Amino acid sequence: MVKAPALPPRSAEVEAGLDEAAAAVRGAGQLLAVCHVSPDGDALGSILGLANALGPHTKIAVGWGEDRPEVARQYRFLPGWELIAPPDRLPDCDVVLALDCASADRLGTLQERVLKAPVVVNLDHHVSNTRFGTINVVDDRAASTCELVLDLLVRLGADITLEVATCLYTGLVTDTGRFSYASVTPRTHEVAAALVSRGVQVDIIARTVFESLPYGYLKLLGCVLERCRLLEDPAVVVSYVSQEDLSRWTVSMEETEELINSLRSVRESDVAAILKEQPGGSWKGSLRSKGATDVSEVAASFGGGGHRLAAGFTSEYGLEETISRLHEVLRLR
Ligand code: 5GP
Ligand code: MN
Repeated sequence: MVKAPALPPRSAEVEAGLDEAAAAVRGAGQLLAVCHVSPDGDALGSILGLANALGPHTKIAVGWGEDRPEVARQYRFLPGWELIAPPDRLPDCDVVLALDCASADRLGTLQERVLKAPVVVNLDHHVSNTRFGTINVVDDRAASTCELVLDLLVRLGADITLEVATCLYTGLVTDTGRFSYASVTPRTHEVAAALVSRGVQVDIIARTVFESLPYGYLKLLGCVLERCRLLEDPAVVVSYVSQEDLSRWTVSMEETEELINSLRSVRESDVAAILKEQPGGSWKGSLRSKGATDVSEVAASFGGGGHRLAAGFTSEYGLEETISRLHEVLRLR
């Protein structure tokens, strides 16, 4: 069993929320854990960490994918990923845990089902969280939702096996940009240490998640870098990925998560943005800030959200109009 990190408690509100969440999970018959659409390492690590720890009475789902849940290839090493159910094949559940979801609409096609459940535990770390649960455990000082899941599991006395630790560590390392973001605290490292002490293979996780992209990714990255623009007043680096790019280089949208990190690597701008064309023609924006700009506010002006330094939105405007509106929102701040 991993001991709770020897650190000060979280805020009284979060501690009380965790107690309440643990009581709800203990009293649950059928438990369902869900996460946001286009699930990333933290979302998948959270639902899978929980499912591996709590066993078969926990069902897991993502509200994404027509007949089969879309799990990005780089996360298909996570123990139990193949148990993630498609949205239409779920039993009724009395307690639902929504993990890493800033708002109910991030649940995609599961939204209605989830909100109908008698108990909805909203366990998350986004500053923009709308508190849509019947129990809300929102700690915007946590670097990842997986950290909060570990706190919950420790409260439940669950065994933190190697499988559980692997899932939770994956959420930690991905959501912190490999332990490099401002969100990283001593607690983050203590949690990582506790998980690694369970035998987590940090090198294999890093290689699988960050260094197993297809060759076409390099070509796509070349296009994205070639067409990137540095806008001025205020400075922002922006580029895009179209559906045509993806088919040309045989790269899936889920494999484009790391592109933004190449755009943010230059000193001329605080903000980097990438726009990704969705199958229906809308553009999904990913924003990153190095510290001076609160991009969750910028994303909110497009109806999106996220964290202060990493946020996203979907725009129904065309590419060029989205770029100019984005620049305008930044200029007016
Ligand atoms: P990414 O750019 O990696 O897709 O997302 C960055 C952060 O913003 C993540 O924490 C993600 O959950 C959040 N985010 C991304 N897109 C949206 C969105 O459309 N709405 C909200 N509320 N949050 C988003
Ligand atoms: Mn997260």
